[in-house]
Amino acid sequence: MSGLYVHIPFCVRKCLYCDFYSLPTATGPVSRRIAADDQPEQPAFLEALEYELSTLPDDFQPQSVFFGGGTPTELSRADLQTLLEILKRHVDLSLVTEWSCESNPGTLTEEKITLLMDAGVNRFSLGVQSFDPATLEFLGRIHSAEEAREGFRLLRKMGASNVNLDLMYGVPGTSIAVVQRDLEALIELEPDHAACYCLIFEDGTPLTELRNKGFLKEVDDDTELDQYNLVRASLHAAGFRHYEISNFAKPGHECQHNLLYWGGGEYFGVGPSAHSHWKGERFGNVRDLDAYIRRIKEGKSQRSFSERLEPEAKARETLVMALRRLDGISADEFHRETGFDLHALCGDSIAWMQREGLLETEGERVRLTERGLFVSDAIFAELV
Ligand code: SF4
Repeated sequence: MSGLYVHIPFCVRKCLYCDFYSLPTATGPVSRRIAADDQPEQPAFLEALEYELSTLPDDFQPQSVFFGGGTPTELSRADLQTLLEILKRHVDLSLVTEWSCESNPGTLTEEKITLLMDAGVNRFSLGVQSFDPATLEFLGRIHSAEEAREGFRLLRKMGASNVNLDLMYGVPGTSIAVVQRDLEALIELEPDHAACYCLIFEDGTPLTELRNKGFLKEVDDDTELDQYNLVRASLHAAGFRHYEISNFAKPGHECQHNLLYWGGGEYFGVGPSAHSHWKGERFGNVRDLDAYIRRIKEGKSQRSFSERLEPEAKARETLVMALRRLDGISADEFHRETGFDLHALCGDSIAWMQREGLLETEGERVRLTERGLFVSDAIFAELV
């Protein structure tokens, strides 16, 4: 199985915690947002994207497509239509079983949803993050809780039967009672999938700068753990299966595209900052829209790096990615995928992590424990 990721580098405004590559289309208050049709870069971006898609290898046949960003639904209706036509010209979509589109409340219209669904989009992901006004303001989100609910209801009204909602916890100043109310509000909407991430202070974001200057403090580990446990318990009680560290699905609604990443599968990413993994090589595009367009126009490569991992490093990466999934990996699967013996390669690390209660084995499978889930980054750093 392989996948195609399309990076749309536009957002209405940058959220204060975000380090994904995207350019704001609003100057100052959201009410002064530039009309979507007047975005000067969008046609040039689509032209460059079409060129990049035309260079994909003939034997690349995706079974999943993911429009991410950025905010794909921030493209105007006309540009969205152009994007879909470009994709159809250069990618054989006949074998695609899952086609996701990320969106944010306030950028969805009936017209855009119809356009996307008619083209074959069958999964939507809506960035809600919180239903609490103070938390939304703290994060610099562009929308209210009511707009998030409206966006979800509009998707359902238009017939979207596979919808993810994103939620965030670990936000400074947000009590566990707020997280509880957020979870109740999400569960009440009955989405098919929920992705719940802990806020991360990424380098270079305004929130990190405020923290570094002492204007705010990160949530402590115990509070974060309490909130994570609440997320897990609440979603479990509501019928979601916890299948990856931050991802929960109703039966049959696990995100196939993300499972492909966690399974070490092959994929192409197109657009600025997008990454690819194809035939043992990893490469990524420049994180700058102007440079992306200019390089393509000048007939130069839009890539900013490429690397080929040594077999052992690749095997260790496979293990770490597989451990993100709650069902982990068996020694047999690991051997089949990498050619390495799991216990010969990482036996010592696995043994002490088992003693520390971070990893467990059930039958043949190795997986993270409840405690391990919460400190997964440290575990992965040890294993790579
Ligand atoms: S909407 Fe998403 S991609 Fe855009 S700035 Fe906010 S978090 Fe980043």
